[in-house]
Amino acid sequence: MTATTLHTGRLVLTPEDPYQIPKNQSSLFQHLQKIGFIAEGLETEGKKFLLGERFLQLVSFMGCSPNIQLEPNSAGKPFCHLIVSGPDPLPQFLKGRNTTPPRCEQCKKRLPDWQTTIQAWKEDPRHFIATCSHCNHRQNPASYNWRQSAGSGRFMLLVENIFPQEAIPSTELLKVLQTTTRNKSWHYFYVQDD
Ligand SMILES: [Zn+2]
Repeated sequence: MTATTLHTGRLVLTPEDPYQIPKNQSSLFQHLQKIGFIAEGLETEGKKFLLGERFLQLVSFMGCSPNIQLEPNSAGKPFCHLIVSGPDPLPQFLKGRNTTPPRCEQCKKRLPDWQTTIQAWKEDPRHFIATCSHCNHRQNPASYNWRQSAGSGRFMLLVENIFPQEAIPSTELLKVLQTTTRNKSWHYFYVQDD
């Protein structure tokens, strides 16, 4: 089995503020079940769910005929499901082979040395602050804007087996998520496996 045959990647939904977490996780999952985004849990600890009957309305698929598997199948083909990541004490960073350099929030220039920055951040996640090589602006890497090619969060919902840009969450879904974080908005990005 080669890496390219099976696991394609994921769509990640997370609060825009990477430090934000839902105030009540079980009420979040109840909301998502009520609107048909998720169905029953796949594991007892509540970290993995089947997708619900309205998943294809709540997430728009690009292209003419998405071949979306929503249930486990005997062929062992990958199927879309939801994995819950967090809540973690500090923002976790997710990236993939689709990740492109972020831009400095001050000068808006691309930060080509981002991999070194991320490494330093991982070594001291609580205190590290990055310095922009163009304008010396200091910024917490958790707040980098990756243009949907990576992201950070303490609480993330991973819709597995989605290609980058293939599926776009609807306004309805983002609004429901927002109600669980005291009306703080959510955003999304894509991570493709290396
Ligand atoms: Zn800068």
